[in-house]
Amino acid sequence: MFENLSERLGGVFDRLTKQGALSDEDVKTALREVRVALLEADVSLPVARDFVKAVQEKATGQAVTKSITPGQQVVKIVHDELQHILRGEGEPGELKIDNAPAPILMVGLQGGGKTTTTGKLAKRLTEKNGKRVLMASLDIYRPAAQQQLAILGTQIGVDTLPIVAGESAVQIAKRAKQQATLGGYDVYMLDTAGRLQIDETLMKEVEDVRDAVNPRETLLVVDGLTGQVAVEVAEEFDGKIGITGVVLTRMDGDGRGGAALSMRAVTGKPIKFVGMGEKMDALETFEPERVAGRILG
Ligand code: GDP
Repeated sequence: MFENLSERLGGVFDRLTKQGALSDEDVKTALREVRVALLEADVSLPVARDFVKAVQEKATGQAVTKSITPGQQVVKIVHDELQHILRGEGEPGELKIDNAPAPILMVGLQGGGKTTTTGKLAKRLTEKNGKRVLMASLDIYRPAAQQQLAILGTQIGVDTLPIVAGESAVQIAKRAKQQATLGGYDVYMLDTAGRLQIDETLMKEVEDVRDAVNPRETLLVVDGLTGQVAVEVAEEFDGKIGITGVVLTRMDGDGRGGAALSMRAVTGKPIKFVGMGEKMDALETFEPERVAGRILG
């Protein structure tokens, strides 16, 4: 995912650490290259600019350039700053699902990986967290979607809400809530319908569902390969319905990583998980420390 960025930064820092003594000007030149590398990785312009500015403020001046290993100091500052933009000021990415039954609303555009991620997360909550999970598809526009979730449920051993023809999304959501309460489930996950583009009808329906169940978590599932577009989609969903976190899918692909780096800074919302493949166990928690380490090789 971050191969190109990692390689580019590696080159810049190799030169910097080999140099021995560093002037403020050397640091500035290196940071200009860092900025270009970030932009090429599809990090949004204001984020790249702020990032370089923050590093520059810490890395120029006496303390760093006069130290014995100035290059390494700069690398350390970049590492810390990377972690900072990945983590943001907010809380870590754990899900708030204590009060049973806790509703999790899954939202996003069609094809982003919503249904797959619903299954992956349900499996994870069941196997790793020992939760009893109920899944329900609210996609009344594609009957196959409800079937798809039911089949997925059977595969991973997670219950799905029985399909009743003719119900609205809100009616299905209310029935899921009722069944989750009566059935003693810890969590119920609502896989909402996606659209190819954000439209009013989609947003209105998701809002109605949100108001009907008052979700503990509203997770936006978005294709990480789409870079800055993923961040724009997140901003729109957040503005309209309020999301609590993001799942970036297809992070196993050869995307440039920009979405991961810009998401928190632009939207203020944490990336909670990343999808690393099509299989049901290909879901990882997003750990800023590890990601920063991976980027810097
Ligand atoms: P939805 O329309 O948003 O519900 O999307 P789906 O869950 O049906 O996923 C669309 C396609 O993306 C399917 O072929 C999935 O297997 C695939 N997919 C989902 N997540 C990932 C991921 O993290 N990595 C890869 N490589 N494929 C994924």
